[in-house]
Amino acid sequence: AKINIAIDGYSSCGKSTLAKQLAKKLHYIYVDTGAMYRSVALFALDNGFFESDFDKEKLINSLNQITIRFERNENGLQTILNGENVEESIRSMRVSERVSEVAAIPEVRKKLVSQQQEMGKEKGVVMDGRDIGTVVFPDAELKIFMTASPSVRAQRRYDELKANGKEASMEEVKKNLEHRDYIDTHRSSDPLKQADDALVLDNTDLTPDEQLQKALDWSRE
Ligand code: C5P
Repeated sequence: AKINIAIDGYSSCGKSTLAKQLAKKLHYIYVDTGAMYRSVALFALDNGFFESDFDKEKLINSLNQITIRFERNENGLQTILNGENVEESIRSMRVSERVSEVAAIPEVRKKLVSQQQEMGKEKGVVMDGRDIGTVVFPDAELKIFMTASPSVRAQRRYDELKANGKEASMEEVKKNLEHRDYIDTHRSSDPLKQADDALVLDNTDLTPDEQLQKALDWSRE
């Protein structure tokens, strides 16, 4: 049977860690929707749409030139933008600083949401993002809304950037999380919010193993 699991929440609450582990355990496909929004932001940056004021119209008119797909290699899931592996570059602060503005554009969301819905049609997927349980798969069999304390989130994000050789101060990381959360919850098009039927997973004090166990128990209920 095809089963979709939706994982939503604020930035850096551990969504992708849980989603990846869950997909592996259950033999589902993992889809990182944040990587798709990040790819569109990278495209906009590389094409100079941010050089003066953000030129939304130009981006909207170029959306049909953007193709995003995922590929698996020995390093895990890789994001491919117009044939190029962008897995590294989409994780940079340069992209993080702009992605939420890009994700607030209704035309961008429309394009990515319909691609995400296609991905969920054939096989069971575990998808993480901001609007999966509310918009992409309102009928998902299991919806998890993840939370963690702001300081834990900032620390995790900081460690992750560092582990990937990317420089950013703790102050910058905190500011960026707050900035993205603000835009994500206040945009008019499909803002981040908890689905009514989502189960809340606060992982402030949970190890990755403990949170996986909890989610697995829910998936079997
Ligand atoms: O999950 P990640 O932090 O990589 O997502 C980057 C940004 O993409 C988020 O801050 C949000 O602005 C946007 N996003 C979104 N809807 C999704 C996934 C991500 O708006 N489903």
